[in-house]
Amino acid sequence: MPVLVINCGSSSIKYKLYGRGVANLLAGGIIEGVDGERPRHLHAAGDQDFEAEIEVGDYRQGVAALVKALAEWGSPPPIGDPAEIIGVGHRVVHGGDRFSESVVIDRSVIEEVESLGALAPLHNPANLAGIRAVRELLPGALGVAVFDTAFFSTLPPHAYRYAVPERWWRDFGVRRYGFHGISHRYLAERAARLLEQPRPNLVTLHLGAGASACAIRDGKAVDTSMGMTPLEGLVMGTRSGDIDPAVVFHLIEAGLPVSEIRRGLQREGGLLGLSGTSSDFRRVAGSARAGDQAAALALATFAHRIRRYLGAFLVQVAPCDGVVFSGGIGENSHEVRSLVLSGLEPLGLVVDPIRNRGEGERRISADTSSVDVWVIPTDEESLIARDTARLIN
Ligand code: ADP
Repeated sequence: MPVLVINCGSSSIKYKLYGRGVANLLAGGIIEGVDGERPRHLHAAGDQDFEAEIEVGDYRQGVAALVKALAEWGSPPPIGDPAEIIGVGHRVVHGGDRFSESVVIDRSVIEEVESLGALAPLHNPANLAGIRAVRELLPGALGVAVFDTAFFSTLPPHAYRYAVPERWWRDFGVRRYGFHGISHRYLAERAARLLEQPRPNLVTLHLGAGASACAIRDGKAVDTSMGMTPLEGLVMGTRSGDIDPAVVFHLIEAGLPVSEIRRGLQREGGLLGLSGTSSDFRRVAGSARAGDQAAALALATFAHRIRRYLGAFLVQVAPCDGVVFSGGIGENSHEVRSLVLSGLEPLGLVVDPIRNRGEGERRISADTSSVDVWVIPTDEESLIARDTARLIN
């Protein structure tokens, strides 16, 4: 009973095909350049890897290419007949106030996701294009939408409301929604198993190109660093994270067009803005090690912002059972973990430097640490596949 997971981003389609259970990954891949820039299809089935240059002008063509690859690439191909796929789980970025859990996709779900497009103009339209393409190309499969915002439906009003005129909230939906919820939920569920506590108190840190912190009490999200959009909070690859909103008026009054301010905060800020050279953490860290002052500042600011949220969230989840690092940076950079956790012994966080330099899923805190610190590689696709299998059954 294969289940396909699809994540349509603003310029790529990532996918994974599972057989019986999430331990049984049959194939996966990525189609890059759906926006027309250097289209490329990478596919892996079993231990075979494939790469092809393809023609993709839109998501429909991309989905058609991945269905064909699943049916034909590899020996034996991961699935001979695409009609065997019984469920397709879609990552949907914004579920607004409406979706607090995963749902089977029908026409009304599509309409509601469409109406939320104004809140996530870069993401929801791409997610919807993928949903529509799959409904057309795999008509026998049930679709399931798994929302990046849903995990935050448990935030109390004092955590999700901004202190702004009430009308902004009522009429324009101005509130905190939170993002990366699929990853934070995966980390919370995995940590519950590892800590052998069904409902732990946690601070989870998803540090990738996008980055966010989440406070989890009794297994439920109670706060997030992300806001009405994924721009708020931590320093990210190209996103500024927190700034004083008055910076925006100041720049408008100084004559900068709104489009330029938006670009500065979303695409030219973050590690890229501070380092002046790259949004990629590895490159920034490499330049910092080579003596580049701007890169060193970018790194220090990145870690400082995480510490700000870590401190704030430790208060909210006290007594904290675990701090979890994940995402491309959180999983791989012992340097960032050391910077974030240095000097926190008085708060009960003691890192073991050898465990910190290890690899894979592991506890990195010392045996004397009263709070566990873990590195947990995130696996959003397996969570989407599990929700999909559960709902279609
Ligand atoms: P996305 O949010 O797009 O899924 P990832 O979670 O893959 O992104 O994270 C991408 C970031 O992780 C990049 O900044 C990259 O430099 C960083 N990264 C990846 N591998 C390593 C590594 N081995 N050491 C440090 N940083 C890494």
